[in-house]
Amino acid sequence: MGSYPKIACLIATGFLMSAWGQTETAATDDPAQVAQKFICEKLAVWQERLGLDDWRISASFVHRVDLPRKTMGGIRWDRNKKTAEIWVLDASEYNLPRQAMLDDMELTLVHELVHLDLASLPRGQASRGSEERAVEGIAQAMLRLDRANR
Ligand SMILES: [Zn+2]
Repeated sequence: MGSYPKIACLIATGFLMSAWGQTETAATDDPAQVAQKFICEKLAVWQERLGLDDWRISASFVHRVDLPRKTMGGIRWDRNKKTAEIWVLDASEYNLPRQAMLDDMELTLVHELVHLDLASLPRGQASRGSEERAVEGIAQAMLRLDRANR
């Protein structure tokens, strides 16, 4: 998984968010660029909302074949260094209208961030499947609230 270029703007979110604003000259229609900018902005938003500001989180777009079966994304973290890398499906893997694609990418992003939020809990009784259900339920609830206001 190490071979994917990370989305540059995600490495130091606050600083590079403003860099985006300055360098952006015209609205682009390229799905890959739209997705990159979108994920960049949403990562900053959700990282702050979930109180994960002290983590350095990057994101990469990956292809379906590079993810475990039946998964749409993934995350890997280092608790000591407080770094994490999130994998989101590449725009080319989607066959959806633009907004539906972005909504789905955002769900993946939030889902993976919730996993990170729970990472401090002791690994215990809960099975992998029940953790997945809880994480997905939380992620969807947060997005429903968020989207009710848009
Ligand atoms: Zn999950």
